Amino acid sequence: MINIALFGAPGSGKGTQSKLLLEKYKHTYISTGDIIREEIAKETPLGKIVKEVVDKGELLTDEIIISIIEEKIKKGCKSDGFLFDGFPRTVAQAYKLDELLLKTGMQISCVISLDVPQEELIKRLTGRAEKENRDDDKNLNVIQHRIDEYEKKTAPVADFYRKQNKFYSIDGIGTIEDNFERIDVIIQQQIFNRKDAKTQKNDKDCRKMS
Ligand code: AMP
Repeated sequence: MINIALFGAPGSGKGTQSKLLLEKYKHTYISTGDIIREEIAKETPLGKIVKEVVDKGELLTDEIIISIIEEKIKKGCKSDGFLFDGFPRTVAQAYKLDELLLKTGMQISCVISLDVPQEELIKRLTGRAEKENRDDDKNLNVIQHRIDEYEKKTAPVADFYRKQNKFYSIDGIGTIEDNFERIDVIIQQQIFNRKDAKTQKNDKDCRKMS
């Protein structure tokens, strides 16, 4: 089971790449942004509380996000692993994710960052506003605020995973297909390493028995 987190600023292509990954792998997909948007669209009590914060382009509190994630992880993973999109977005969330996964004997296998320069992010987000009718993509100040929130609160998460040797970054500027290839190479390597570790363990167990 390979648990992946896609990492990157708003507009870096995490959602697009997630869709392609889910065509190839059977991961349980958790996009905190999608969950939040659904809550807002359905006008649930949570949706009503968070709408204003999301519309301003600010991050929600760790408590809100963690309660959402906790429930999803508890429901479990009936697949190749979890694919997280837009989570964790703060160091506190990253710590909590480790803790939640550990409870069920799991861990994050790799965090894959899509690196895209700011000008390109802004171009993509303003284009997406038309296509996907997302309120938080429509206003240039809100877009800039989301990018600033990313730089201030989310970028430090990279170091958390770098220290665990789980952080990989790819150039997110190429075509969608090129970027997918780059991500897939990392995932294939993870799958290979896992199989290799299992084979080595089996060999060791066999040697012990003989
Ligand atoms: P996204 O579609 O991932 O860009 O998320 C849309 C909005 O949902 C963000 O601008 C935040 O307001 C909120 N959000 C999504 N994920 C998180 C998270 N992990 N932590 C805090 N806020 C989040």
